[in-house]
Amino acid sequence: MPFFRDIIGHPRALDILQSMLLSGEVPHALLFMGESGIGKRTVALTFAQALLCHDRSIPEEGSEGSIEPCNRCLSCQKLAGQNHPDFMILEPEGSTIKVEQIRALQDQIIYKPIDGPKRVILIDPADKMNAAAANSLLKTLEEPPAHAILILITSKPFSLPETILSRCQKISFYPLSLSQVETLLVERKGWSTHEARLVASLTGGDLGEALSLEIDSAREMESGLYSLVSEKTLSDYEVLFDVATAYSRDEEAMAQSLHYLAAWFRDVLVLQSVPDPSALDPSWLVYSWRHEEIRRWATRMNSHEVGSFLADIQEIHQAQVRNINRQLALETLLMQLRDKVLNQKQKASG
Ligand SMILES: [Zn+2]
Repeated sequence: MPFFRDIIGHPRALDILQSMLLSGEVPHALLFMGESGIGKRTVALTFAQALLCHDRSIPEEGSEGSIEPCNRCLSCQKLAGQNHPDFMILEPEGSTIKVEQIRALQDQIIYKPIDGPKRVILIDPADKMNAAAANSLLKTLEEPPAHAILILITSKPFSLPETILSRCQKISFYPLSLSQVETLLVERKGWSTHEARLVASLTGGDLGEALSLEIDSAREMESGLYSLVSEKTLSDYEVLFDVATAYSRDEEAMAQSLHYLAAWFRDVLVLQSVPDPSALDPSWLVYSWRHEEIRRWATRMNSHEVGSFLADIQEIHQAQVRNINRQLALETLLMQLRDKVLNQKQKASG
């Protein structure tokens, strides 16, 4: 498990947790909320380890360091070996976390901890508790045993009952920047910066998803997604329609297309932002091996148009949660691009 100092991003959340560790005043129920795949669980695990550690390091007053678990004591070893008697992770059995699981948890946490002063329980993802489970957990949240600390993790806080939300101290996690994800991928996957940048872009900075991808499948994914911007697609309405249908078939495909388009047109903007695009080192681009085509796009649209296209993508991305007509939205985006391609062709022939 990483130390706090190795965790990338989440400065505010880490500050809050550090001050809890320092003061020893840790609420009985915490809710870690924020998009999936950005590292909430990793932070929760490190926090749990620090809470349970027998020998955590405390930086000298006034120094910059953070409170860290020792990674050596018996407690840290048991946690790493996944057999810590005072630590528990509740996860869905099948598709939900069921009331029986909550009851089993309740039977256990009433007992004093075995190894130290605390028992720590992670519920991840907490939004997978069914209604009966959530209702049952509420009793524990209302009267938690003095030694219990529950950490609920969710990317969908709005699907948890208000009664649960109101009894947890909420800690928000924000998405990592693409460059933070890139750095992490280089470190953890041993990829080149360029490979890491491609995967970070394709997954829209979803670290969990990025880590689960292999570089070969990322490349394969890219060559499929390329059809979104290829002239072959855009000059033929029938093909465009098929591509829009295929890439809007479900939320995941749609998100991928939007990430792809966003990264593509950010590349176009990069080209447009340098005084001499022909001199730009292609390795600056996410899709460096397609630099010739990206250069063509830089002549088809001015930077204002590219900026407003990127804003459209962003808007559709956010609207997705509200169940917009995905196919229509993607088709509309591609039709905008089609106009640019056709315009340029007309100019060239006229
Ligand atoms: Zn330790």
